[in-house]
Amino acid sequence: MEYQAKELFAKHGVRVTLGTVVERAEDAEAAAEALGGRVVVKAQVKVGGRGKAGGVKLANDPQEAVARAQEILGMDIKGHTVNRVLLAPTADIAEEYYFSFLVNRAERDYLCIASIEGGVEIEEVAHTNPAAVAKVSIDPQTGVDDAKAAEIVAATRFPEDVAGEAEDMIKKLWDVFIKEDASLVEVNPLVRLGDGHLEALDGKVTHDENAEFRHQDHSAFDIADDDADADSRLEAKAKAKGLNYVKLDGDVGIIGNGAGLVMSTLDVVAYAGEAHEGVKPANFLDIGGGASAEVMAAGLDVILHDNQVKSVFVNVFGGITSCDAVANGIVHALEILGDEANKPIVVRLDGNNVEEGRRILEGANHPLVTLEDTMDGAADRAAELASQSGTAAGRV
Ligand code: GDP
Ligand code: MN
Repeated sequence: MEYQAKELFAKHGVRVTLGTVVERAEDAEAAAEALGGRVVVKAQVKVGGRGKAGGVKLANDPQEAVARAQEILGMDIKGHTVNRVLLAPTADIAEEYYFSFLVNRAERDYLCIASIEGGVEIEEVAHTNPAAVAKVSIDPQTGVDDAKAAEIVAATRFPEDVAGEAEDMIKKLWDVFIKEDASLVEVNPLVRLGDGHLEALDGKVTHDENAEFRHQDHSAFDIADDDADADSRLEAKAKAKGLNYVKLDGDVGIIGNGAGLVMSTLDVVAYAGEAHEGVKPANFLDIGGGASAEVMAAGLDVILHDNQVKSVFVNVFGGITSCDAVANGIVHALEILGDEANKPIVVRLDGNNVEEGRRILEGANHPLVTLEDTMDGAADRAAELASQSGTAAGRV
């Protein structure tokens, strides 16, 4: 969220006005008072275009701040409910610029995108006036040094009288990008104030999850995100259970052990789905080597709560954890879940102790569980069950 991005900016010396976050409109009065009375009230949601949606409003005095906060809190901005607003002294804006650093996977380097036409969506500027959008690639080995900062300033055509300060801010934003292990740092608008100084008036930072272990402090940013959409809620739930889960846009829930097997399972289901109204895999979920009952239950719990899921395909290759242990895991998982298990589950087991595993599942004779011998057969069965549930029909 903006206020969190600004905290990171401040940590690295980027000029910002931190302001105060409130969750109740009545708290806006004292906050605005302390900030000098005249404030901007800004919706804090993880989505852009808040200004356009009416989520950024000016207030002349503390009473107005309460009224604006009242209007903005509870607002729905692109599916995100506003649960908190940021109050900050209004800025005297002379010009609005756009600035960002991002990972450019295609070129295996970093990219800076900047424009002196900021304040609006950069995609829009790129469309209407592509010449106004500067793109400067950054060698990961050297990063942004003085020369690179100067190159960015020149390419963006920042006005001469802010060039020095722009170079300084660019290097500090680079610090945010690198030291916080971000995959995106975006400032829109980066403003030139009436007094000629530069300030980051908005901010967005996306962290690289793979570097999470290096940033214990970042977990403080994971605030109870009840304004997240249903998909991110599922992913957050899986993460809390320590599962390797990625939500996809399909109907067949997938559980497998080992990333490679799960990836192949996605392909096989997508292929089988072509013959069944185009149903697709609903997720990636790798429960890893030790497919215990608890892990299986946790996985099934996440997948069965995905409203898009119509059937589940459990594809396990018994190795160190043998098939009988996995089968017991499935049986116990279904006991743990009870009535919450309510969608057909197709199981394909192979590998170590497969006969015993199958015997356990057959013995349990659970009404939702179907056993299949092969991966292709199971994928076909799961796709068929998903398409038969009706709601998948008509999907493209
Ligand atoms: P976004 O629409 O979600 O990107 O939200 P921003 O934080 O970028 O705000 C949108 C627009 O509101 C900015 O481009 C500014 O023009 C304006 N704005 C934001 N904060 C202030 C402020 O403190 N003072 C003034 N005058 N305008 C502001
Ligand atoms: Mn913005």
